[in-house]
Amino acid sequence: MNPTRRLATMAALLALNPGWAQDTDATFEPPALTVIVVVDQLTADRTREWAHKASSSGFRRLWQGGVVYGNAAYDHATSATAPGHATIATGVHPSKHGVISNFWYEREVGRQFPSVWDREHGVSPARLAAPTLADSLHSAHQGRAKIFSVSIKDRGAVFIAGQHGKAFWYSVSSGGFVTSSFYYPEGAQPEWLSAHNESSYRQLPAAWELLMPGEAYAHEDDRRHEMPPQGWSNVFPHSYAPAGTRLYYDQLRYAPDGDRITMGLAQVIIENESLGEDEVPDLLSVSLSATDRIGHAFGPGSREAEDNLHRLDRLLSEFLDYLDSRIGPGRYLLALSSDHGMRPIPEYVPGADPEATRIFSRRLIEALNRQLSTGLNTIGVQDFRVVQGLNRQLSSELNVDEDLVTSIVMPWAYFNLAAIERLGLDLDSISHMAGEWLEARPEIARAVPASRLDDCGDDRICELIRNVWFSGRSGEMYVVESQNSFVSADPPVYAASHGSPYLADLRVPVLFYGASLKPAIVDRRVTPRHIAPTLARALGLPLLEGWEKPLAEVAVEPTVTVEPAEPQ
Ligand SMILES: [Zn+2]
Repeated sequence: MNPTRRLATMAALLALNPGWAQDTDATFEPPALTVIVVVDQLTADRTREWAHKASSSGFRRLWQGGVVYGNAAYDHATSATAPGHATIATGVHPSKHGVISNFWYEREVGRQFPSVWDREHGVSPARLAAPTLADSLHSAHQGRAKIFSVSIKDRGAVFIAGQHGKAFWYSVSSGGFVTSSFYYPEGAQPEWLSAHNESSYRQLPAAWELLMPGEAYAHEDDRRHEMPPQGWSNVFPHSYAPAGTRLYYDQLRYAPDGDRITMGLAQVIIENESLGEDEVPDLLSVSLSATDRIGHAFGPGSREAEDNLHRLDRLLSEFLDYLDSRIGPGRYLLALSSDHGMRPIPEYVPGADPEATRIFSRRLIEALNRQLSTGLNTIGVQDFRVVQGLNRQLSSELNVDEDLVTSIVMPWAYFNLAAIERLGLDLDSISHMAGEWLEARPEIARAVPASRLDDCGDDRICELIRNVWFSGRSGEMYVVESQNSFVSADPPVYAASHGSPYLADLRVPVLFYGASLKPAIVDRRVTPRHIAPTLARALGLPLLEGWEKPLAEVAVEPTVTVEPAEPQ
């Protein structure tokens, strides 16, 4: 069947479908523009809380006018940005799409790499091992669908754009949004990109100040254990370094203004690339990262996090108004979710073991510097102190003088398989010893050997780890932090973090807004893996193997499966 006819068939099938948007008179018409908004580190609880605030406009509008899945959570263990975005992009687990973490160790090269790293282009989706919703949209319309993705973080933009879309992210070293040669040949980048980079900062204030009087905030400003970025203290106002300096560009990532310039670029793309204007449906992904950086630096219970959510609420409200006037109400479909949740600053958790707050890694800063010099959003974690201790223990127990653990790139420990084989040692017993030693540390809850993942029984953590195991990328042992602990640099650069298989890190919003959706709040358990198949059905695209069933409140299954006769 040729593609035009396949679409005609799909349209005919869906036109016969009485359940589309629960409107019996509806004929199938895909939204002119589908928008995926991923707010980095936005928890499910905060989405609900903000939607119910009297002052709310954006969250409230989405909550009251959309289809809200109030009980959504990831079902994979490594709650981090790259696996989250790749899961939304592909609709499958990291064990299928291969993006097991933000970074992983590559044995052949002997070092860790960011998930978006590609030797030829610098940044690309080369490591993504599964097809995306965007890829389906691209092929169904023979490349005529416009697909764009923007984020402060490269890993927040690259995966949702798929193999054929265009991705843009922010670079501290060049002080603006960039792309790579994977998307545009050198020198052929769109003119609107440099125009936006030159103009967007001029509209920004000289400091991040409170939106409201201090008494209006529920959270204290001056708290211990916050770790503001360079040049800022833990109290408002947060004055930016002189515009144009590297420090200024760095500080913007830790402020709501970072989201403002990201959203500004999204609108520049909509207008300059004429998204949502012709009969071919387009896809735009906007990933907002300020919530994540602010949560890491000041903690999710900070006045900074609270002010950011007020500003995010406004930004979303303005964006919905913009879509209404530019695309038209009912002509766009928006999905909102997050890449992971968040846990509090460990020291603020009542009863938390003070010995178990952080696993220090003095190499983090070195990796961070490496990142900044290449312009990648790379935060590598290698815990050399743990590796050294583990090696000392194993060498003395086994009476060998070779390192048996090559690296720990959280959450995976990579063993020295070559040495283990050469020395005739048994991997299982080494795993057992390593696991016992790791689990004896207060900041580590579990150490699960990869060999156990085939037989999880009713061990939920084991199941969640199985969903992030990918051959050639995962290590031999998965290290689970204690509830109130996380991996940090030495000295630490972050106050709080996520990344664990605990529910606080896994629960995220999943909601849909726009098109002709009937508002609903649904309590059924869903996962962000439902987003790709649901949008695919709304766009009239075929469902891919391994996908969950599309969410019926948003896009109902066609009930008639009659092929129209071949046209003469
Ligand atoms: Zn984060």
